[in-house]
Amino acid sequence: MSEATLSTDATARIIDGRETAALVKEEVRLRIAQLREETGASPCLAMVLVGEDPASQSYVRMKARDCEQVGIIARDHHLSADVSQEHLDALIDELNADAQVNGILVQMPLPVGLDEEEVVERIDPAKDVDGFHPVSLGRLLRGLPGMRPCTPAGVMALLDQYGIELEGKHAVVVGRSNIVGKPQAILLLERNATVTICHSRTCDLPAVCRTADVLVAAVGHAQMIDASYIKPGATVIDVGINRTEDGTMVGDVDFESARAVAGAITPVPGGVGVMTRALLMRNTVEAFETQQSVGKGA
Ligand code: NDP
Repeated sequence: MSEATLSTDATARIIDGRETAALVKEEVRLRIAQLREETGASPCLAMVLVGEDPASQSYVRMKARDCEQVGIIARDHHLSADVSQEHLDALIDELNADAQVNGILVQMPLPVGLDEEEVVERIDPAKDVDGFHPVSLGRLLRGLPGMRPCTPAGVMALLDQYGIELEGKHAVVVGRSNIVGKPQAILLLERNATVTICHSRTCDLPAVCRTADVLVAAVGHAQMIDASYIKPGATVIDVGINRTEDGTMVGDVDFESARAVAGAITPVPGGVGVMTRALLMRNTVEAFETQQSVGKGA
């Protein structure tokens, strides 16, 4: 990373998600241009949005913009909040069967009354670009190639980009959700970190976190992880996205206090969130490539 990305007025080096996401997206864009030359086709991502939740609408809009930037065809399917489970299931079946569609993303959370687990399991694992399907998570656990969940994969890409050493290091992940905490822990373990997973019943969380060389916060509580949780010089990755009362976006880490102790830290916004979207683009092109080679009988 260039000197320009180092912070000048505080201890911690800033891990710049925007810069890294731009690199990932550029690599995806070039790959797609090459694939288009070879196959005459472009990857296609179908995005299913149910209801009118403003945050979900905004996420889908940003993902559509990313698609446009890298050359992925984005297909929007907007369903009303009162859609039945049968109707939603039928749409997923249709997208699964559509050879033009390489990736399927159903924006979560779904309105109350719809079964998220049913939806996740219904998506063809070959098109599971979110990496949430039990087959994708099972392959991750077994160390087999497959779709990795975008947020933890984005965290790994950031750690790699900034040359953060993992082998033999103690990585502490705060949070054990299926979409962030658990897959994050497995990805860190895969890289030979010694991993501790913390959650709401962990005793003396600050003390456990203070043993971390790499601390990943995925808690969902605004600015909960402050300097008292951080070992001097540790790398702090803030997955959190929270809104304060005045609408400001903040992470799960108290950035100002943490940056005085940490060795490197991600900001919010401009850290993990943009990486999640970049990795969605990468997963979509990988799904396309796999489906093309299967189609050719490779
Ligand atoms: P979940 O609510 O599913 O999981 C939160 C986890 O944090 C749970 O495992 C919970 O423990 C644990 N936890 C809650 N409170 C505490 C506490 N006081 N002490 C220790 N552990 C606690 O959230 P997600 O994993 O979906 O998301 C986590 C954060 O990441 C959120 O801020 C979310 O907005 C953000 N996010 C950001 C993304 C991005 O692209 N940057 C993508 C996805 C999420 P327990 O299991 O015991 O309840």
